Amino acid sequence: MSQFNYDLFVIGAGSGGVRLARMSAGYGARVGIAEDRFMGGTCVNVGCVPKKLFVYASHVREDIDDGAGFGWGLNGDLKFDWQTLRDNKNTEISRLNGIYESLLANAGVTIHSGRARFIDRHTLDIDGELITAERIAIATGSWPFVPDFPGNEKAISSNELFYLDSLPETAVVLGGGYIAVEMAGILAGLGVKTCLVYRGALFLRGFDQEIRDFVKTEVEKKGVELLFNDNIQSIEGDAPNLRVSLKSGNVLETGMVLAATGRRPHIHDLGLEGLGINTRENGELIVNELYQTSVDNIFALGDVTGGMQLTPVALAEGSFLSAHLYCDVKPTPVDYQNIPTAVFCQPNIATVGLTEEQARERYDNVQVFASEFRPLKHTLSGSNERTLMKLLVEGDSDRILGAHMVGAEAGEIIQGIAVAIRAGATKTDFDTTIGIHPTAAEEFVTMRQPRA
Ligand code: FAD
Repeated sequence: MSQFNYDLFVIGAGSGGVRLARMSAGYGARVGIAEDRFMGGTCVNVGCVPKKLFVYASHVREDIDDGAGFGWGLNGDLKFDWQTLRDNKNTEISRLNGIYESLLANAGVTIHSGRARFIDRHTLDIDGELITAERIAIATGSWPFVPDFPGNEKAISSNELFYLDSLPETAVVLGGGYIAVEMAGILAGLGVKTCLVYRGALFLRGFDQEIRDFVKTEVEKKGVELLFNDNIQSIEGDAPNLRVSLKSGNVLETGMVLAATGRRPHIHDLGLEGLGINTRENGELIVNELYQTSVDNIFALGDVTGGMQLTPVALAEGSFLSAHLYCDVKPTPVDYQNIPTAVFCQPNIATVGLTEEQARERYDNVQVFASEFRPLKHTLSGSNERTLMKLLVEGDSDRILGAHMVGAEAGEIIQGIAVAIRAGATKTDFDTTIGIHPTAAEEFVTMRQPRA
């Protein structure tokens, strides 16, 4: 009989933690998990899922407007009720919380509802209860970070946005990452006059430059005001009468400030001090290729380790680690190349592989195939939204290096292309694939001429 209560104890029942706990128990390990806030973690409660539901909500107005060109019209006023959206979303999230709980319980994982804190490398204090484990995995995720400026406590983060009592008439979104851009799109789509303030020259750093420029134009068309090369200096007053002073000297009167200014590892009060776990300067836990920290029985995965902060990445890490620790068949390591990703701004961005800038840095012979057009739907809807698709090809080998798209359902389209790219697809493979007509996606197999 083991001297420990558990073979494995997982801290955090989010994307990575639930996968690790569930699969390890399935392989026969005695597993416990602690969760102090919400079953399913960030993605389910204050991330991907509620965000995508809000993105759907924010499109409805536009869909109704688009309908006019197809002969549809409304007889009465069009009304939006925030409380209905928020409460229906909450009901769905509660349902998902229950599913996560059942998944764990049915797999034989013991759930401890409470905050875990290290006592030593094998012992945790969970709200006063001491438990021991041979191995402990930290899957505590990340937490919104708000920069320091006078009045920053008056800004909300994405965590609070999902539960607002009411929607303001105007909002300022601070930040230039994907969450900022998505949230600005949601708010604008729901009828909030929205302004995005970002200290850099252009948002979405790290994405293909042409895609970023194109999205800037599209986002502005949707009515989001973009203030680049600027920053918030202070916030005064009380919501919904906030006064935001910018570095440029401009002052914005607004009902709400949303700071989407990055996320930091969630390691507050975890008791890591004295354990000897190596971290980066920003607190990210450093792990080796087996997700082992510098303390060999303590593992870490998901957002808390930095890297690409995406749910499918945390899931893949959880799957790998469980199989590595408890399955006889050794798993294939997670491949961090060609991870597809989407930004659910309006229209969506989706991307896989290298940007044009990265491709040109790595290869001498890069061919760029691109197509920009007005989607068929909008010939009748009257919308001025446009779509951009881009393929990067290594000219000598004909291999596809990257695919990028801005347009409706870009995420749905690029997911399939990601499989092709991982399988080593060439431009000839794309060219000899018959398109599905009439779709936007068929453009990816009909782009014949590279740019000069
Ligand atoms: P989490 O899911 O954050 O889980 C960590 C859990 O640990 C939490 O439940 C937390 O309460 C718990 N915890 C922390 N400390 C303790 C402790 N001491 N004791 C007990 N429990 C503790 N990703 C995508 O792939 N697609 C998207 O569209 C997307 N959209 C997003 C939108 C927003 C607004 C945000 C914020 C994130 C989004 N993400 C998206 C990112 C995604 O949510 C994260 O990458 C993912 O949830 C990381 O999983 P994780 O297991 O590392 O951590």
